[in-house]
Amino acid sequence: MATAHNLGFPRIGRQRELKQALESFWRSDIDSTQLEETALDLRQQHWRLQRESGLDGIPVGDFALYDHMLNMTVLLGAIPGRFGFGGKIVDLDTYFALARGTPEQPALEMTKWFDTNYHYLVPEIDASTRFALQADKLLSELRDAREWGVRARPVVLGPLSFLLLAKSHNAALPLSTLLERLLPVYEELLAAISDAGGSEVQIDEPCLATDVTDEELLALERVWQRLVTARPTLQLTLATYFGSLRKNLDRILSLPAAEFHLDLVRAPEQLDRAVTALSSSARLSLGVVDGRNIWIADLESLIALIEPVIEQLGADRVRIAPSCSLLHVPYSAGREERLDARVRPWLAFGQEKLGELQLLKATLGADDETRRELISANRSAVMARRTSTLTHDPAVAHRLESIRPQDLERRSPYAERAELQAQRLKLPELPTTTIGSFPQTKEIRDARRRHDSEIMATEDYETFLRGQIQSVIAIQDRLGLDVLVHGESERNDMVQYFAEQLNGFVISAHGWVQSYGSRCVKPPILFGDVARPMPMTVRWWRHAQSCTRKPVKGMLTGPVTILQWSFVRDDQPRAETCQQIALAIRDETLDLEAGGAQIIQIDEAALREGLPLRRAEQEHYVRWAIDCFRLAANGVADATQLHSHMCYSEFNEMIEPIARMDADVISIEASRSHMDLLDAFRHFRYPNAVGPGVYDIHSPRIPTTEEIVGLLREAEYRIPRARLWVNPDCGLKTRGWEEVTPALEHMIEAARSVRASAVARI
Ligand code: GLN
Ligand code: ZN
Repeated sequence: MATAHNLGFPRIGRQRELKQALESFWRSDIDSTQLEETALDLRQQHWRLQRESGLDGIPVGDFALYDHMLNMTVLLGAIPGRFGFGGKIVDLDTYFALARGTPEQPALEMTKWFDTNYHYLVPEIDASTRFALQADKLLSELRDAREWGVRARPVVLGPLSFLLLAKSHNAALPLSTLLERLLPVYEELLAAISDAGGSEVQIDEPCLATDVTDEELLALERVWQRLVTARPTLQLTLATYFGSLRKNLDRILSLPAAEFHLDLVRAPEQLDRAVTALSSSARLSLGVVDGRNIWIADLESLIALIEPVIEQLGADRVRIAPSCSLLHVPYSAGREERLDARVRPWLAFGQEKLGELQLLKATLGADDETRRELISANRSAVMARRTSTLTHDPAVAHRLESIRPQDLERRSPYAERAELQAQRLKLPELPTTTIGSFPQTKEIRDARRRHDSEIMATEDYETFLRGQIQSVIAIQDRLGLDVLVHGESERNDMVQYFAEQLNGFVISAHGWVQSYGSRCVKPPILFGDVARPMPMTVRWWRHAQSCTRKPVKGMLTGPVTILQWSFVRDDQPRAETCQQIALAIRDETLDLEAGGAQIIQIDEAALREGLPLRRAEQEHYVRWAIDCFRLAANGVADATQLHSHMCYSEFNEMIEPIARMDADVISIEASRSHMDLLDAFRHFRYPNAVGPGVYDIHSPRIPTTEEIVGLLREAEYRIPRARLWVNPDCGLKTRGWEEVTPALEHMIEAARSVRASAVARI
């Protein structure tokens, strides 16, 4: 019989116990023993769950208190010298110092884990890095699991991906040299695992789903020659996920691994080739249950896919598995009692996915009748989802078909629009504004909680919010900002707020997914055709505008960001789903304009995040993503000023597509990188107006007027003053008023002082 195994389980806990424990520990409410107890308890719960699901292989080492990459860094002893730990055993304080920084040392940098919304801590490698094994933690977890009777399989990130994902400070150190230094530690690790009773190890090389070079492939071959000889009795699985291995498939499958795992959800086309190319002694692990999304699997079609493989390879050489670690899906859909009962049967979170593996395994060995019985519930849910009128709204289909090319275009070119807008808005040179949100105070969060739990009546809640908006407007007027915002106090989250009001979405109660450390996100679930039944923001904007004579920006989240930060249906192309969202946002844009908004901002914070892992696919994505923004935004009249905000720093390769958005004004993150990012503007003449963030809202530090003046002067080298705006680099919701007020005062003072001075010249 084919066996089933898992690649990784969500670690935050059913009730986000890990989050609570971490935050209590950081506040010193609990000590390290209590934190470790919670962690052990969670690992045991997760093992129990997986064991009860009849899995033949259960991952160990997938758990991390903060981040699995940080665990790897510690395991390999790759602690950056700047922390001054000099080869000592890493205790909890050191671990969290690396994750969160100390008064003397900033934390390790954080960046996105491939194309997921998970962020890992970037290892720092340089010529002085001395790798040294620190495997105690992993080995004791392995022993615990074995004592528990779990068929434990340690999971580690492979050496190639570890180095490719690290930041190497010394370009003079080639990959081959680094590998030479690193490999002995891996060899030692494998020997130690084997000595501790482990018989299998899963070595993840997710980088293989990206554009690896020939040199990197050669390095991989060398790595595997070494790894398999470390302990010949140890069975090694090479796990790849997040995409296809493409032209490298044959070469990778000829490595001397005992097993290969392929992501057949993202890249089903690999299967046929893989079955042929696999060497006669190796096993194939079929990643067929989607580890990146929350929909139930179509078991019938999976059986049709798996059976021929079993016929060709023999059952003992086939394993079934999720496509990747289940880290990227929430814990369990079983608790979503309040979710639309028609949609709920379509959902499979982590726990349900384990159930699917169990069912698949049982079905594969069963006769026809038992098989029909086993999958009948799944079959009807799949059919219901496929044919439901909830998912297919003919009016949306019709609207999509009637999109015309001119719907994506502003009526006149930027120069003409800018003139009309200038006459209408009469803004000073270097206009000052903010990105949208103001501090989400305890008072606001409490009121929202009371309203959500029905302790506070909607009417009272709305009165409260109107009061908040009025006071935020008064503050901005008093500070002397030129373009105001309503402050977003009514929004729990910039995506969920819209998803709650759009058709085609449901919001889960417990669908939390780890983003980094103790931080989790709860992506809305986009299950069907999207439409906007009613205006979503207009009344709040109208109230805000009624409190001031300065222009107040209408504030929307863009279609790509809504798509990117949701779990999205998998039965049609993402581009098409995004177009539907774009049409809904377009309705809102036009309603804001009709209601009198002279300036509308559409945030696309996640535009860059959606970039596919393979360069060859990026152009296609960028084209449809920008087109969706244009569809959402560009229906407005020339005199209406359109803003967009994007918060990330790697701007260079995106600047041309961003210009194609044709927003009148964009605001971008710049202050953290000291305007380095404006280099993009040197090589490319960005045609419209730009507000490079002059104040880093991610830090509690209050910038001085002089600093901001300096940044504005730098900006003037790249962008003519007539097209330069002055703003922070992101929304202010995570900051307190005691930080925001002086920082904005300094920002406004800086703008005034630069206005009064001559234009800087290179
Ligand atoms: N308008 C949003 C805010 O100010 C933008 C947030 C973001 O870009 N992440 O909070
Ligand atoms: Zn931002």
